[in-house]
Amino acid sequence: MSRTYEVRTYGCQMNVHDSERLAGLLEDAGYSRVPAGEAPDVVVFNTCAVRENADNRLYGNLGHVASVKAAKPGMQIAVGGCLAQKDRAEIVRKAPYVDVVFGTHNVGSLPVLLERARVEQEAQVEILEALDVFPSTLPARRESAYAAWVAIAVGCNNTCTFCIVPALRGKEKDRRPGDILREIETLVADGVLEITLLGQNVNSYGVEFGDKLAFGKLLRACGDVEGLERVRFTSPHPASFTDDVIAAMAETHNVMPQLHMPLQSGSDEVLRRMRRSYRAERYLGIIERVRAAMPDAAITTDIIVGFPGETEADFAATLDVVREARFASAFTFQYSKRPGTPAADYPDQVPPQVVTERYGRLVALLEEISWDEAKKQVGREVEVLVATGEGKKDAVTRRLSGRARDNRLVHFVPNPDAPEPRPGDIVTTTITYAAPHHLVADGPASVPRRTRGGDAWEAAQARPAETTRAVSLGMPSLGAPA
Ligand code: SF4
Repeated sequence: MSRTYEVRTYGCQMNVHDSERLAGLLEDAGYSRVPAGEAPDVVVFNTCAVRENADNRLYGNLGHVASVKAAKPGMQIAVGGCLAQKDRAEIVRKAPYVDVVFGTHNVGSLPVLLERARVEQEAQVEILEALDVFPSTLPARRESAYAAWVAIAVGCNNTCTFCIVPALRGKEKDRRPGDILREIETLVADGVLEITLLGQNVNSYGVEFGDKLAFGKLLRACGDVEGLERVRFTSPHPASFTDDVIAAMAETHNVMPQLHMPLQSGSDEVLRRMRRSYRAERYLGIIERVRAAMPDAAITTDIIVGFPGETEADFAATLDVVREARFASAFTFQYSKRPGTPAADYPDQVPPQVVTERYGRLVALLEEISWDEAKKQVGREVEVLVATGEGKKDAVTRRLSGRARDNRLVHFVPNPDAPEPRPGDIVTTTITYAAPHHLVADGPASVPRRTRGGDAWEAAQARPAETTRAVSLGMPSLGAPA
């Protein structure tokens, strides 16, 4: 019997993808995913340092697992991710039952560290300060059969004063374009239809190997991958957004009409204090050019309310940009101190009640705009990539759910005269109703187009979890085909 594992993930998409790698590494080392309801032999916490009190929550969760470990001889606990990078040996001091602490730059060491901890019967702490080369060859265990994340860079060369990423993930490391494309081709051969290129600042991609146009070129190269139907990316930084990327988006058939571009604040003064080097006018200019090139693009953003020193006039400037930009949706955050960031020590913190009040006004405005924008979709025919787990009420409403090309969530009624579409299949349907955060299509959808993504999803259902194959990053996987 192989040893079983469970990975618990906190935080951002980068961590979600790192967890796929951790799972892939463990499976390559002979571990298998723990069956539901059983206690695993290894629990890995992939932590996040972004939220306030993240450490308190981690120690609470660790304490809970420690009691399971006490009753299960041989069980091991590993802690990785940003909080591990930040707190290091402190973790073993506070939680002596932890067996392994590893950082964001040495994810690949986990199986060896677990083995060493077992043999030496002693906690192993290994944190590297920087990444030497992009870890292209780490295996990954993908969570979806038809959609995948593809990391193109890690780390960030910017120094936004609210962000812990530069301190914990280090300088930007770019992955070689050939490695990225090989990984994408391998994924597509496995049935993946949609990829999301992932980096802290995707459009500075190439800075490390001296090609400022590398990101646009990468998008265009994705257009040549046969069978790849949808390409998305997250997140671009407005300061390094260049027009060649807009042209590449508009001219590459499988790059989706969608842009998620963090605004953070509409006030130039706040942007300056955040050390984000663009201004509101530049941000709006990019949106204008994106819309000119792709009139149907859905634009989404991130906004922080109540950054230290934010005045009512600064906040009003954010509302102005929101009105002008007409976002399809936004992730909104009330500023909270993130330990280790410069802004946490700024003296002019905004009182919490002021932050909450502004936040309420911002969310109300965003809802109104998102809803207006969504209503424009009514009557339009959309292509939906059917998804798993997107529609919480699907069982009751007898609808299925998926994402349109612009990434809007669509709940639709399947065609009663055709086989039910599988996750990964594609239907077209006409929008009949719009809500601020989703669309409904109540006329019957088209006969589904059965795709390789749907085949891959179906094949994955038939495989027991323990034998799910790892997919290599950048290299064809070895072993028997699925
Ligand atoms: S661009 Fe700014 S917010 Fe984004 S990762 Fe870099 S430092 Fe953080």
